[in-house]
Amino acid sequence: MPIVGIDLGTTNSAIAVLDGRVPVLLADTNGQYILPSVVHITPQNKIVVGSEAEAAKVAMPARTVSTVKRHMGQDEQLLLGPHRLLPEEITALILKELKIRAQAHYGLTDQDPLEAVITVPAYFTDQQRRATKRAGELAGLVVERIINEPTAAALAFGLGRKDQRGHVIIYDLGGGTFDVSIVEMFDGILEVKASRGNSHLGGEDFDWLIVDYLADIVKEQSGIDPLDDLRAKALLKQHAEVAKKELSQAESAEINIPLLSFENDQPVGLSQVLGREDFEQMIAAHLEETMDCVRGVLEDAQFTAGEIDRIILVGGSTRIPKVAQLMQDFFGRVPRRDIDPDQAVALGASVQAGIKAGSISPEILIATDVAPFSMGVAAVAPVDGSPTPGVFSVIIPRNTTIPVRRTDQYFTHSPGQTAVSIEIYQGELEWAKQNHFLGEFVLDGIPENYKEAEQINVTFGYDLNGILEVTARAESNGKEMSIKVNDQIDRDSRHAFAASIKRLEGLQQGTAASFHQESLPLEWDSDDDDEDEDFAMEELTADEFVATLKRTLAEADELIGDLSKPQQKRMRRFMDKLTRAFEEDDLAQAEALLEELLDLLFRLEMGEWDES
Ligand code: AMP
Repeated sequence: MPIVGIDLGTTNSAIAVLDGRVPVLLADTNGQYILPSVVHITPQNKIVVGSEAEAAKVAMPARTVSTVKRHMGQDEQLLLGPHRLLPEEITALILKELKIRAQAHYGLTDQDPLEAVITVPAYFTDQQRRATKRAGELAGLVVERIINEPTAAALAFGLGRKDQRGHVIIYDLGGGTFDVSIVEMFDGILEVKASRGNSHLGGEDFDWLIVDYLADIVKEQSGIDPLDDLRAKALLKQHAEVAKKELSQAESAEINIPLLSFENDQPVGLSQVLGREDFEQMIAAHLEETMDCVRGVLEDAQFTAGEIDRIILVGGSTRIPKVAQLMQDFFGRVPRRDIDPDQAVALGASVQAGIKAGSISPEILIATDVAPFSMGVAAVAPVDGSPTPGVFSVIIPRNTTIPVRRTDQYFTHSPGQTAVSIEIYQGELEWAKQNHFLGEFVLDGIPENYKEAEQINVTFGYDLNGILEVTARAESNGKEMSIKVNDQIDRDSRHAFAASIKRLEGLQQGTAASFHQESLPLEWDSDDDDEDEDFAMEELTADEFVATLKRTLAEADELIGDLSKPQQKRMRRFMDKLTRAFEEDDLAQAEALLEELLDLLFRLEMGEWDES
C-alpha cells in the first residue's frame, strides 16, 4: 500500500512522499505545495478547500471555517454555512484534498487504499490525537501512525546526517500551536528526550492581537466597533496577517483598508502604520511563554543551554526575527536555517512513512519518542497524613520514552472489598479529576478478605501509536481485566463514525441536510474570550450574535417581496417569533430560530424551499 506523510497544520497543511529515499512535497494542479487549512461552502453548496476557501473568508465568513485544528478533540460542532460539522469532519475535508494529490501521484482511484502518517503537536492530548486519526479515516486514509511534529522535523533534519551527533532543540511555532523538543542524535538514532508546549499558542494569536489594536483605533476614530461586524472582523484579520508577515522583512508595515464598514451609510476606513517594535511588544508575553517552555524542556531533559549543539526553527511563525533573536540570546548560538520551516514537518512525516514501509532501514534512521503527559489512576493516598480518595497516582511519568510498560502496586482500601474501580487519567495535576479523563473499568472477583488488604497490580502499556492499554490484576487469585483506552472509545464511536461518513458524502455531493438532528445548542462567549477565534457560529460573542441576527432579519425582509404568498406568511411567522424570542431574552429559542431562518434563506437561495 502506498504511504504518505501529512503535516496537518492550523493554518497550512502539506503532503509528502519518498521519492527513492528523498522526501518530496506533492503539489496541487496549480503547482502549489502548501494548502491553507481553510474550508468553505459556496452558496451553490460546493465544498472548496485551500487558497480559494481562504480568499472567500472575508466575503463569506459564516460559510468558511479556518483554524479547525484548535477545536480538534472537542465534541461541539462548527458551522460551515448551514451545516454543523465536528472538527474532525471538517479536517477530513482538508485531508481529502491532500489525498487527491497522492492519488494523482501514484495513479490511484478512490477504491485503492492509501496509508498516511499524520503529524500532531507533541502536546496534543490523547483525545486530540484520536480525533486526528478519525479525521484521517473519515477521509478514507489508513492511519496507523500519528507522530509528533517536532519528531517529524527531527527526522527531516536527521535524514542524510547519520554521522552527526549531538543535542538538538526543535522550536516549532506554527499558526496555532507551539512545541519544543530536545532530541539526542547519534548514529542515525534520534531520541526525543523531552517535549513541552502549548496547543493553543501560535501566529493566529499574534494576528488577533494586531486586530484588537486596529479595532481600538477604528473605535476611537469612528465610534463603531468593527469586531461586531463579521466581515469587518475578517477583513481586519486578513490585513493583520499580511502586516505581520511584512514586519518579518521590514521595520514597519502600512495597513490601508479604505472600506471596512459603514456608519450611518458613510464608509468607515482605516489607514495605520504598524512598527516592528510595537508588534514585538504586543507579542512579547506570548514569546516569553515559549521561552519558559524552552527553559522547562531543558530542565526536563536535564540539560543546560550550553549542552545544546543545534537550534532548529520550524513553523511559519519562526520567521519573526524576534523569535530567532530570543533563541540566539538564550543559547548563544545562531539557529539553523537549513530546513524550510514550512516543509520540515511534512517531509519528516514522509520519512517516518518510509521507515514504516521499510524503504528506509531502521539502521539508517530511527526516532524514539516520549509520552508528552503523565498517565495514571485515581487512588486513595495520604494527604496531610490522612488517607484521601481522588489523588492522581502516576504510573507513566511525562517524558518517559515510548513504547513503555510499567506496573505499580495498589491495595484494597476497605475490609472485605471485592471490587475496585480503575479510573484512568492523563495530566500533571495533583487531583485525578483535575486531569484529563481517559476511561475506567471495574475489576471485580477480588477475594473477600477481612484480615488484610488485597494487592492489585495495575499495568500501563503505552505504544508508539499512543495507544494505552491498562490491566488490573488481583494478585492473590489472578483475576484480571484490561482495556485498550483507544479501542473502547473507538467502539463507542463506531456508530458516530458511520454517520460522519454519510454526512461528508452528502456534503460533497451537495445533498447534506442542514442542521442535522444531532446538532447541539449554540454557545457563545459573553465574556469575549478570544482564545478560539474563527467564524463559525459557535464562536460568536453575544454582540456578534445580535449583529448576525439583525443582518439575517434584514436579509429576510429584503427577500420577502419575491416570495409566494404562503412562503411570505411562513417567513413572517418565523421572523416575528425570532424577534419575540430575542426581545424576551429567550436566547436558546432565538438561537434555534436563527438557525432555522438561516437554513430557510439558504434553501431559498438554492431554490430548494417547497411551499408546503
Ligand atoms: P505553519 O502552521 O507552520 O504553516 O505556520 C503558519 C503561521 O506562520 C501563520 O500564523 C502565518 O501567519 C505565520 N507566518 C508565515 N510566514 C510568516 C512570516 N514571514 N512572518 C511571520 N509569520 C509568518
